[in-house]
Amino acid sequence: MARRVFEAWKGSNKFLFGGRLIFGPDVWSLPFTILLIVTPVCFFSVFVATHLRQELLPNNAGHAFLVAGVLLTVFVLILLFITSARDPGIVPRNMHPPEEEICYDTTISSDGRQTPTVQIPRTKEVMVYGVPVRVKYCDTCMLYRPPRCSHCSICNNCVERFDHHCPWVGQCIGVRNYRYFFMFVSSATLLCIYLFSMSALYVKVMMDNHQGTVWRAMRESPWAVLLMIYCFISLWFVGGLTGFHLYLITTNQTTYENFRYRSDNRINVYNRGCSNNFFEIFCSKGKPSRNDFRAFVKEESPRNIRLATTWERAEGENREERRQKVEDELDIDEDIMNLQQRSNVEDGSDSGHQKIDIDIMRVESSERAPTIRSEARHGNWGARSSNAQEDIVDVSSSVRESRSYAAAEEGR
Ligand SMILES: [Zn+2]
Ligand SMILES: [Zn+2]
Repeated sequence: MARRVFEAWKGSNKFLFGGRLIFGPDVWSLPFTILLIVTPVCFFSVFVATHLRQELLPNNAGHAFLVAGVLLTVFVLILLFITSARDPGIVPRNMHPPEEEICYDTTISSDGRQTPTVQIPRTKEVMVYGVPVRVKYCDTCMLYRPPRCSHCSICNNCVERFDHHCPWVGQCIGVRNYRYFFMFVSSATLLCIYLFSMSALYVKVMMDNHQGTVWRAMRESPWAVLLMIYCFISLWFVGGLTGFHLYLITTNQTTYENFRYRSDNRINVYNRGCSNNFFEIFCSKGKPSRNDFRAFVKEESPRNIRLATTWERAEGENREERRQKVEDELDIDEDIMNLQQRSNVEDGSDSGHQKIDIDIMRVESSERAPTIRSEARHGNWGARSSNAQEDIVDVSSSVRESRSYAAAEEGR
């Protein structure tokens, strides 16, 4: 039966309504975030807004306090939902490494052993506003990441203009939802200020109407005081975040870039001046999604891409029908990268792990880079065979069973 893209999805995302909504794997935190917003508003409506209406305005105009608060809350929740439920800018994975970049080679070690290797340049240079920018190869997605794109380790996807993975929203913040994320955070700040000032106004009204002191008024309206404390604490968090992102927007940086490149005094090629930067975030035409999660996956004939590896195993082990899958554990750090390659032996009794050792060297754009040499070790690490055998491991086994995404193909 034909499967849809979201059913064959290799990232860690959660889908709802037949792939119409996409969330991060930690979407369970979303109800908690909603509760943090809705609970104080409920207390405001019941204990502050209604009493304030009676105390201050004995006519219907007093409803305005309540209506304004509820409308602002609905606005905040809608922005939260948009941020959380839409494609943040995921770059569709390739089904195989870019063939034009692969270089097959054989290296001869000091003991005269021949090791077949496959080489993929780790980095490539692309021009951004006339400035060369180094982009990296993503082993999981098997593509060269576009500039500003990064692989989210939580969602296991490459995301364009990756800002950060927000655990409160349960989604990556990227090119397609950054605008809504910022509006969510800033409107949440406004909501905090509104609730705080309304509660303070209520205490003031209580004080004036009953000719009491501040302390007495506060004792008589404990909910208003609690709300003020809650909003004051929240304001440090959301207000601080709004200020930080305002700074990032004016300088056209992402959170990721700010944290990562803070110490380097590198020129920010994306900074086009304050007003242009604001225009880019808030007024530019939204980037369309590169994924159609509801499209049917298109079967693709297997490609004979063979990653040459060296196998070392105990004698007598059945070495047929190996499947292996390369997993990107971490975002590639400057020069050191560890890849772990997992091997599943088909008989299921022995699912050993392999480790790919990658000799990373500083790669210049034109240079062919690190040699991927894979050593497979089966479960018993001590019993490594002395007569190491060479073998070609077909990594396309995962390609064989994989399908291509119709939508993804279109985009390329
Ligand atoms: Zn990736
Ligand atoms: Zn993420």
